[in-house]
Amino acid sequence: MAADGNSNVNAYAMALEQLDEAASHLDLKRGIVEVLRRPKRELTVNFPVLMDNGDVRVFTGYRVHHSTVPGPSKGGIRYHPSVDLDEIRAMAMWMTWKCAVVSIPYGGAKGGVVVDPRELSERELERLTRRYATEISPLMSPEGDIPAPDVNTNPKIMAWIMDTYSMHRGYTTPAVVTGKPVEIGGSLGRLMATGRGVAFCVARVLERLGMPVEGARVAVQGFGNVGSATAAHLHELGCRVIGVTDIYGGAFNGDGLDVPGLGEWVRGTGSVKDFPGSEPISNAELLALECDVLVPAALEGQITADNADAVRAKVIVEGANGPTTPAADRILVDRGVVLVPDILANAGGVTVSYFEWVQGLQFLFWEEDEINSKLERIMGRSFAEVWRMAEEKNVSLRLSALMLAVQRVHDATLIRGIYP
Ligand code: GLU
Repeated sequence: MAADGNSNVNAYAMALEQLDEAASHLDLKRGIVEVLRRPKRELTVNFPVLMDNGDVRVFTGYRVHHSTVPGPSKGGIRYHPSVDLDEIRAMAMWMTWKCAVVSIPYGGAKGGVVVDPRELSERELERLTRRYATEISPLMSPEGDIPAPDVNTNPKIMAWIMDTYSMHRGYTTPAVVTGKPVEIGGSLGRLMATGRGVAFCVARVLERLGMPVEGARVAVQGFGNVGSATAAHLHELGCRVIGVTDIYGGAFNGDGLDVPGLGEWVRGTGSVKDFPGSEPISNAELLALECDVLVPAALEGQITADNADAVRAKVIVEGANGPTTPAADRILVDRGVVLVPDILANAGGVTVSYFEWVQGLQFLFWEEDEINSKLERIMGRSFAEVWRMAEEKNVSLRLSALMLAVQRVHDATLIRGIYP
């Protein structure tokens, strides 16, 4: 799971600041920028869940569509006590940009429930999921809006959502959600796809900077789906993963952690904490580690104006959505730290979600090597486009990626025209 949420950071304010900065470098129609600054639609649901002890608890959830101009809206569902509407709005907007950066025909969406899932039993989690899925079903469909996993949600939860939606429809509808188990129409390669894409970006950026991939020292914040898969792929690429943290603690070994062993340890104990052969490390220490690459793969708002000066990594590759605030971005740019932004670096997940959706619509399934090579082709092309634009315009990779994305969605909005 993710590290501590940072309640001082408003993600939607961050997203707006980023959009305004990108727009100021582009020649855009003002009214269209105003459209892009706001979510298209927002749904808040308050719903009861029967707890195991017979009590009824009311939970609050959201589903926000930022844009449906490029295609159906797409984005994950998170379960976290710090979820609020502004966070979900920001995440939905970032999904729009992310899909545009990798040229996938989706707009952006996001959903969330205000809950700490660790406090629920398995049955309570299932009842909460099925009720939330029912509550947001007016906004969800294979043609209209397709959820996926995010913080604290997983293939099992996606299976419940798919089953619930299908029960209401009266027939099985696999394409309504992605990130499902492969047994019920999930895609090969989806589980590891975000981490594969992050590791791919680490390798590409190191190559561009003339730094060796083999032996590169990497620190990873967060050991959920994204952090653990990133660490596994980096290990395969020959990098040394020297530090990892999760919400319970951290593990450090300057010679490189035994990443496969760490994966086993986490499956057994639920945390990276106390991993044999490692020293403990705090989250703040991890962010300040002397290393080549830092991969924040937890929650938003982790690298801020307060700690950006402490970062000693030469390169940051964002596995999480929104881990770096705009104020921290400016500090890092001034200090010459190269940062591969979230909307490019973690786009591997939604890219393979797109493959899963296409397979589900057709009931025709692909081989894993086909999926991985298509993913690498898309990530490679997008990385090259973002890098080239950054060089041409002499801007950071974040600004370059945002400029590419905002221009594409702006143009699509203009081409479609304003109805009526
Ligand atoms: N939650 C992931 C993200 O933030 C995946 C979204 C998806 O696959 O739709 O990119």
